[in-house]
Amino acid sequence: MTQKLPKIHKNSFINGEWIAGSLAELEVINPANGERLATIKQCSNKETKEAIAAAKKSFLLWKEKEPKERAQILTKIGDLINKNIKRLSLILTIEQGKPIDEAKTEIRGAAEDFYWNAEQSKRIYGEMITTSSNTDFHISKEPIGVVGAITPWNFPFSMISRKIAPALAAGCTVVLKPAQDTPLTAISMFELFEEAGLPNGVANLIIGPAEEIGKELCTSPDINKITFTGSTNIGKLLYSQSSDTLKSLSMELGGNAPFIICDDVDIEDTVNKLYESKLRNNGQVCTSPTRIFIQKKIYKDVKEKLSKKIKEVRIGDGQEESIKVGPLIRKKEITRLNEMVQDALNKGAEVVAESTGISQSTNENGFYYKPIVLENIQENMKLYSEEIFGPIIPLFQFESVEEAIELANQTMYGLAAYVFTQNSKRVHQLSSQLTFGVIGINSIAIADQRVPFGGMKQSGFGRENGEYGIKEYLTIKTKRFDY
Ligand code: ADP
Repeated sequence: MTQKLPKIHKNSFINGEWIAGSLAELEVINPANGERLATIKQCSNKETKEAIAAAKKSFLLWKEKEPKERAQILTKIGDLINKNIKRLSLILTIEQGKPIDEAKTEIRGAAEDFYWNAEQSKRIYGEMITTSSNTDFHISKEPIGVVGAITPWNFPFSMISRKIAPALAAGCTVVLKPAQDTPLTAISMFELFEEAGLPNGVANLIIGPAEEIGKELCTSPDINKITFTGSTNIGKLLYSQSSDTLKSLSMELGGNAPFIICDDVDIEDTVNKLYESKLRNNGQVCTSPTRIFIQKKIYKDVKEKLSKKIKEVRIGDGQEESIKVGPLIRKKEITRLNEMVQDALNKGAEVVAESTGISQSTNENGFYYKPIVLENIQENMKLYSEEIFGPIIPLFQFESVEEAIELANQTMYGLAAYVFTQNSKRVHQLSSQLTFGVIGINSIAIADQRVPFGGMKQSGFGRENGEYGIKEYLTIKTKRFDY
């Protein structure tokens, strides 16, 4: 028996009030069965302006608060997230589709974002440089101001916490525009902000049409920074829209992650890790392995072991136990993936394996897509260069490590890469020559609150998490003192 959507607000949140927007209703759909979950009156740029004004006003108070006080509120938010994990993960799974255990992991991670940044808010230190006995320079770090945050649907809870927790810790205030596919998950977090006693106007939620709200945030002179996670194309648009007001920007954009398997590995263990990382969130992850490079000697063995697992994978409603793969986010994603596979087949690719295990209780109106493994991939195929964002697994063979590096770097993206080898020389060669911002060496667990996460090339710039993450929300002031 699947559970229903828990009771939740269906509004935006501006200056501490739940507000119905002035535009038409947005329909929120459950991807597991195609049914309407809720409707939300959308905000226009008028309400966005009000939210920006509220954030601007509250900035003066929030930045002056003792870091300890800010830390207490952030810690309380973390506690509330953990306390409500069952409810929050249910909302996330119903709205976004991922299996409930994955939703729980995401929610736990978000609580950690608040805890980590609560501590970090107390450690924003300045510097002093003495140039002579009667002269000092003080270098202080101040919150950058009002932040406009735009977040995606694939990690609809933790992509918000990754931005809002460090922004609030730094002393900034925020106007958030979440993805239209997942507004309820955003609302569930803002309900906890209210409960934790976050002062009015410090964090504002605007649900509404992306273009209109995005433009308002990027062009407003009262927004000092834009932080965005989403596709490279939209990142470029926001970059250009922000140029008139010369905003500071952080961009977490698309990826096309290589997964390189050398012939000296433990094959069983490596295939398990590939399977886990590729099927996580149904491949709808910017760090998802997209091109699998396997050294010739072990190609057949890896292919067979992976195929066996893929054939047996269980697909269905994420609320059901033992479901590994939930639905895709939208119906039209099925068409997009089918076209990508067809394009590859037309150009000579071959199907190696396809899943068969759709759960009996799966609703036929859900947006399900069976994971598929392909080989004989060529550079002119769409799936070679485009972000796949789905459970398609293309296999490549390589002979030398040099060849693998060249192929892996042959992309405009540079977010994540994975390297599997037990040979230390190869580890050094691969990890130093791959042009990606985050590299997993015999590991798929590449994101952590403590360490910077972000891309090179057209995967964007700026870093989230850790000490570097909070720096994105700080600006530097130099003062000279003559005594
Ligand atoms: P995806 O195709 O995976 O949904 P997007 O980059 O389109 O990725 O979406 C990421 C975020 O960017 C979402 O919040 C979405 O609403 C927002 N977005 C999409 N188009 C625009 C736009 N023109 N201006 C501002 N934000 C946008």
